Parts: sequence; structure tokens; C-alpha cells
Amino acid sequence: MEKTTPNLMNMLHQLIAIPSMSSVNPSFDTSNRAVIDLLAGWFEALGFTVQVMPLPRQPHKANLIATIGPVQEHGKNQGLMLAGHTDTVPCEEKFWRFNPFRLTERENRLYGLGTADMKSFFALIIEAFKRFDASRFKRPLVVLATADEESSMEGAAMLVEKTRPPVRYAVIGEPTGLKPANAHKGMVMDGIRLIGRGGHSSNPTLGLNAMESMHQVLGELMRWRNDLQRRYQDNRFAVPVPTLNLGHIHGGDNPNRICDQCEVHFDLRLLPGMDVQSVHDELHARLTALFAGTEIKWECFPLKPGTPPMLTPQDSRIVRNCELYSQADAHAVAFCTEGPYLTQLGIETVILGPGNIAQAHQPDEYLALSNVQPYVDILAELIAEHCL
Ligand SMILES: [Zn+2]
Repeated sequence: MEKTTPNLMNMLHQLIAIPSMSSVNPSFDTSNRAVIDLLAGWFEALGFTVQVMPLPRQPHKANLIATIGPVQEHGKNQGLMLAGHTDTVPCEEKFWRFNPFRLTERENRLYGLGTADMKSFFALIIEAFKRFDASRFKRPLVVLATADEESSMEGAAMLVEKTRPPVRYAVIGEPTGLKPANAHKGMVMDGIRLIGRGGHSSNPTLGLNAMESMHQVLGELMRWRNDLQRRYQDNRFAVPVPTLNLGHIHGGDNPNRICDQCEVHFDLRLLPGMDVQSVHDELHARLTALFAGTEIKWECFPLKPGTPPMLTPQDSRIVRNCELYSQADAHAVAFCTEGPYLTQLGIETVILGPGNIAQAHQPDEYLALSNVQPYVDILAELIAEHCL
């Protein structure tokens, strides 16, 4: 079969050269479409059936699903999905030693924005795939490339709403230093806004002080945190309890005016077994009880959509195979991924990728060259195991 994609280094160069930063802040946000179109061309050339799916709320961005090998309409598909995101975080070029949009090879490392997190992954998939004659596949290989993982997670959310990929197992190539991860925490980032009534500070009865009410909210949040930490523990994690961080507070304007508005932002990390909706329900119940019979107005709002925690059972076939081919035990990681969206679709998922999360989301992001060939070998073993 004719394989008409560029060589590995050339593919990496092209992927890094195209900016695909996503951010909830519009001034840092760019489309991922050029990366999707580049990948679509490569996977088509390799014989994949390629579907480009624009995001409903941001049609200038898109997911890509590329499929090869026999898909059984009925019966159980056991194939493999290799999944990752095409967006990166924004970067501050002035703190970089090298141009973040130009792949630079130095010190046995490949520098560039998205080298570790995680555009390189797609070139490495192609490198592994080129070892196979896909006409011999008995089960499908599906490549998923999403949009907006670093911001709204809309790409993953659309996947859950609109598709049913014909696979039972998935590997997400987020940077884990070639060691498989079968668990991560979830994340909720919320704000609570209190509205009281302003007035002259000399007579407190003229107003309703939102800052004083916020003092009660902070106490309630800390009691809730202690309660959650008593109820949930998981020793797979370096921090084995759910955490709640009070990260931002703003209220009032002047010492001689009764504070009429106060807002707090916090981040809650969920353990497997907790879910985003019930956490929100609990918080609402606590705030409702706290302010029952008072005049204070309150609202709780998400700063970004919550990400559920992920846990794939240790005895899942994909966990065991990832352990086997990477020669490492499955562990838990501290960062969130699109994995929970795949598990919602009934796809058993492992996080296993080249590069290190410690190099992601910061200047001089790099992928160690020593990770490249071993990772291509791992992918080839997984494809052979699950698709042949
Ligand atoms: Zn990532």
C-alpha cells in the first residue's frame, strides 16, 4: 500500500508551526481548524475514512475522527481508539528561549508549543501505523483529534452528544512519561456571588453587609471540605483526598460604605466516586440552609464546565496491555483529561503518552527525543494487539 505522508520530523515541524491555542479569554483564542485539516489530509492519504466535525457553538473549530479497519454494525467491536487534543494553551513568547512555533532540536529534545502536550502524538500514531498493512486489520483503529481540551472541553462534550465510536478501548496520548495512568481526579471551578445592600458605614442597619455574609460562606466551604475529606479517600493519589482551594475573592469598594457585593472563586478536585452534579447539589443545599431566613441574595455559578474524575479498573484489558508494553505499572495522575468523556461512551480508557506533564503549560515545552521511538513501539504493539 502506498503511504504518502511526510517523514516524522517533517510532520512534527508542520504540527508545531500552526498555532492552535485555545483559551476562555477570546484575545488568546485561535482556531484549531488548520491542524485538523492537516491531519485530515495525512489520514486520508493513509486510507482512513475521515470525518471533520465542527463544534456546534464554535463552528470555526472542529474535531476529527479517522477510522480504518472493519467496523461491525452489530456485535461487539473490540478495536482501539487513539485520542488526543489538537489545541494547546496560549504561550508568552518572551519567556521562551526558542520560537514556540518552530520545532527546534537541541540537547536531545524537541522544543516547541505542543511538543509534549500534545500535537506530536498524532505524528507518532502515523509513524506506528506505517508498520502495518491495514487490509489485515480485523478490528477498527480510530484516531480522535479534539478541539478545546485546554478551555471549554466542547470537543469532547460534542463527541459524547453526537457519536458512538465503534471501539471498546482507548489510549489518550497526554504526556505521562511513557507510564500508563488509569485514574485522575475531576475538577470543579465555581464562583459564589453574594448581594447585600450598600449604605453609610456609620449605621450598619442601613444596609446588609455582603462581606460579613461571605465570612459565613468561607466557613461553610471549609466545613464542607473537611466533610468531603472524611468521606472520600483514595491512596492511589499523592494527595489522597478531595481538595478545595479558595483562590480569589473580591468585594466592596470603600471602608466607609457597607459592602453590597462580594464574590469568591474556588477550585475543587474530585476523587473517583464523586461526580460533578452531586457536588453542585450538595453545595446548593448547604448555601440554601446557610442563608435560610436572611435577606442576602446568593448565586453559585461555574467558571468553566466541570470535569469528572476517571477510573478504569486495573483488570481492564487495555490497562493490562498498556502495562505490559510500557513495562510500567498503571498509576494515578494529578491532571484532568478527556478520558471521562470516553468512559461515558463505554470506552475503557488509559492515559499513556510521551513527554512529561512537568514540561507542559510553560515556556520551553519540549519532548525528549529518547521518548519518541519507545512510544512508537508501544503504539505499534497496542495496534497489533487490538486491531489485528
Ligand atoms: Zn493536554
